[in-house]
Amino acid sequence: MAKFELIVRGGRVIDPASGLDGVHDVAVKDGTIAQVAPRIAGPAARTVDARNQLVIPGMIDTHGHVYQHVTGDFGMNPDEVGVRSGVTAVVDQGGAAPLTIQGFRKFIKDPAATRVYAFVSNYLVGGLLGHRHVGLYGPHGINVKETINAIGKNRDIVKGIKCHAEIGGYSRWGIETLRLAKEASRAAKVPVYVHLGRLWAEENGTTIDPDSVIDDALPLLEPGDILAHPFTKHPGAFVSREGKVHPLIFEAMARGVRIDVGRGGHMSFNAARIALDAGVMPFTIGSDIHGYTIRRRDVWRMCPSSPSTRTTGRCRTAWAYASRPTSVSGPCSRCARAKCIARSRRCSRSRCPRSRDAPGSVRTLGVAAPGRPRYVQTELRAVQ
Ligand SMILES: [Zn+2]
Repeated sequence: MAKFELIVRGGRVIDPASGLDGVHDVAVKDGTIAQVAPRIAGPAARTVDARNQLVIPGMIDTHGHVYQHVTGDFGMNPDEVGVRSGVTAVVDQGGAAPLTIQGFRKFIKDPAATRVYAFVSNYLVGGLLGHRHVGLYGPHGINVKETINAIGKNRDIVKGIKCHAEIGGYSRWGIETLRLAKEASRAAKVPVYVHLGRLWAEENGTTIDPDSVIDDALPLLEPGDILAHPFTKHPGAFVSREGKVHPLIFEAMARGVRIDVGRGGHMSFNAARIALDAGVMPFTIGSDIHGYTIRRRDVWRMCPSSPSTRTTGRCRTAWAYASRPTSVSGPCSRCARAKCIARSRRCSRSRCPRSRDAPGSVRTLGVAAPGRPRYVQTELRAVQ
């Protein structure tokens, strides 16, 4: 009988935990790593030639959205995000809820080849359609007891609580939803993972200082809690209205609050430069991959003259306006509107011949939905 099930031969083994970086063989027995050495004799039931390839410990994606079907277009297949993307374990952030965690276990976690974990949603309903319907996500939709219960019964897969501290929710309910998340987190002894940066538009008639979200949220956090989206272009996150990292971020880092990249739709190179230059170094790299990041509609379908615009929803509209370089003017070539969303979207891209004229640093953020106040913040730099 073979001594090992598998030997991976001759790859460059990089294992930061043990300080290893060199050409080694790796032997597997009973499903675990039995030996790592420059030359392992064997025999093995199976041998893999890994010469000129990297051999690394399984990577963990700390932020995915894999409650497929239950979260609509937003949720992806766990193995598509996991093993088929070179990641052996994926943590779903907030798709599964206290009321739906059993389905997550049976239909997502159990059948997946990837190891699947969850930060259970702070809200009873979880991340349906990427939290599109804001009315579901107030304190009325949170039950601390149910959250604690769900964590207690599913400790093998639930490793924390996913919650939000962002302008739209803050304009409606202040910091109450985060306070409830922390109440459950302390009782269940798991961390919270906090989304920063705009998710929902503000409540009608409300204009708030985005930095006040950080003022109120960060003092609630404890060592081991996690802040997401340090490089987002959205206001109310790491980079303040002054274009600097909010001072409370440093205080939080100093007392052991972790930072996860949460890439998704939250990657501004300007914001990243500001944060990194200020010494903000993420602790983990979560992809925040979800259906909307990889199945974006053709930008032309977001044009107001196109019937399909109706399906794109208010948040996407606001987001498109937020991306509009202020220096670009003139009507859209397709619908002739001066502020065509599709055209604005195009012009924020390097493809557009006019984008070279855009200053690239100062943007006007506007919530453009009819009947809503226009929220303007011209001071904010580095939003794209
Ligand atoms: Zn996410």
